[in-house]
Amino acid sequence: MRAVSFSAFGGPEVLHVVEVEQPQPGPHDVLVRIHAAGICYHDLLSRAGKIPGEPGRILGHEIAGEIVTAGASVPADRIGENVAIYHRLFCGSCRYCLRGRHDLCRNSRTVGESGGGGYAEFICVPARNAIRLPEGIDMAAAALAVCPIGTSVRALIGVATVHPGDIVLITGAGGGLGLHQIAVAKSIAARVIAVTSSPHKTTIIRQAGADDVIVRPDLKFSADVWRLTRKQGADIVLENVVTGTFGESLRSAASNAMVVVLGNVGAQPVELDPGLVIMRRIRIAGSGIATFADVRTALHLLARKAVAPFIDRILPFAQAQQGHALMEKRAVSGRVVLQGW
Ligand SMILES: [Zn+2]
Ligand SMILES: [Zn+2]
Repeated sequence: MRAVSFSAFGGPEVLHVVEVEQPQPGPHDVLVRIHAAGICYHDLLSRAGKIPGEPGRILGHEIAGEIVTAGASVPADRIGENVAIYHRLFCGSCRYCLRGRHDLCRNSRTVGESGGGGYAEFICVPARNAIRLPEGIDMAAAALAVCPIGTSVRALIGVATVHPGDIVLITGAGGGLGLHQIAVAKSIAARVIAVTSSPHKTTIIRQAGADDVIVRPDLKFSADVWRLTRKQGADIVLENVVTGTFGESLRSAASNAMVVVLGNVGAQPVELDPGLVIMRRIRIAGSGIATFADVRTALHLLARKAVAPFIDRILPFAQAQQGHALMEKRAVSGRVVLQGW
């Protein structure tokens, strides 16, 4: 089969179409013909060797396709099913898996981090990782159900338990994750205040549904939040940036607010004012990949058109190089999705 791989770490130019052996499903696996794969910022870091992993693998964990072969222990009627792939290959028996928190499984690996990933014609995964698509959802949208939309559902609904009318502040709102977070928050009738340092992102942030957009190249946004909320502050802060913004996020928080940390742009420790955290009873929580339940929620929101996927462009798989280059230059708003060869 054809796949896109890289033999050494480097820039987008190291990605090439290669011919590799088609994977064979074990008894509990399904073979999925990949119809669409999203390019995640994570893939760029993997290709550049900035996060653990080896060259020679197939990148991509945002995958939708069709089951074409089922292993001996998998019901044959699953053949032909359109699916999204839950990208964490989990053990199913640890304390986290048994609580439905497969995202926290310690005996797991992630599709695309080792072995086969999404930039290929086929992938084999355990049948339980292939989640059937509801009606009314196309493959490009389904590829984004796990990440970034499932990730947004995890942060907002899973971690922050957002309610209608809550004020949600989103930093780095113009990024691929930020735009989907806005859409998910609006699907629950929250009020969204979006922060960006880039004036040219204002239009797309408004398109995503943000009620207010604060453009602050100097990242000093807390006074604006205070003014926009009549000195109430934000009930939920989604911190996609953290470096240079965390102090302002805490100052923007309402009493008993939840500040969810998702970003680590500068990969540096940040300062924290304990007096402020105590006085306002601020809760700080980390958030990461989606659970199964989050993916089902994401697919439902997509199928009902309550959330629209932000797809900047669709490129053939063979142009993955170009997709990476565009993302590296930050020349895209939303995701680049690979589809067709
Ligand atoms: Zn991703
Ligand atoms: Zn487990």
